[in-house]
Amino acid sequence: MPHAVSLLRAARLARSAKPFLARGGFKRERCAGCRLVPSHCMCAVRPPVATRAGVCLLMADIEPLKPTNTGWLVADVVADTFAFGWARTETDPALMALLSDPQWQPYVVFPGQYAAPERVVLGVPSSPDAAGGGSAKRPLFILFDATWAEARKMFRRSPYLDRLPVLSLQPEQITQYKLRNSGRDDHFCTSEVAAMCMDLAGEQAAQQTLDAYLGVFTHHYLCAKNQQPVAWDGAAHQRLREVAARRDQVA
Ligand SMILES: [Zn+2]
Repeated sequence: MPHAVSLLRAARLARSAKPFLARGGFKRERCAGCRLVPSHCMCAVRPPVATRAGVCLLMADIEPLKPTNTGWLVADVVADTFAFGWARTETDPALMALLSDPQWQPYVVFPGQYAAPERVVLGVPSSPDAAGGGSAKRPLFILFDATWAEARKMFRRSPYLDRLPVLSLQPEQITQYKLRNSGRDDHFCTSEVAAMCMDLAGEQAAQQTLDAYLGVFTHHYLCAKNQQPVAWDGAAHQRLREVAARRDQVA
């Protein structure tokens, strides 16, 4: 069964009058499961992880069509990933239903300085414990899968999000994340933001898997672009295998 981002991409492609050719992207045949050319397919290592937390992607118009979109990777890993195309003038009834589903506590993930202070939260409650603490609701992280300029517009012009808490990722968390994944500046892709949210929700297996899986995707994508073979024993794949082994130990 194709995941939410895959379905959104198919619907968006069907609406395109002309075929979408990404700038710098390859114009060869692509695998429907991972968007890569068949010689660099990474479907065999897709690592679904069971999580209590979910992700709701609000995607800018052409985002599902971009070959580098990483919301796709989130949907590969986190089973409860929902994806909706964002439009200023219309709202998807399925999105409204999801946001009012009592099993979820939605959080809009966005820098706190753009929201009224009373909406801003810095963490999410833990799952229910024997002592009656924690929250019975599952956290649902709403991420804008878009450029920064698009994301700001989406945040401002989605009145149905105004009643929801805004989860603001903290500088300490971002710094810690940067230390683990050296070489990144302060601009994070969607799967990195999802990884940080999973960490906050106590879902370390999902966080580590998302990080390692992004490394594998980056490796496959660049090898395909440069017409080099995949290093199945290279650092990226080794890391993903290590994370999977750790996950199996805990389970
Ligand atoms: Zn594939």
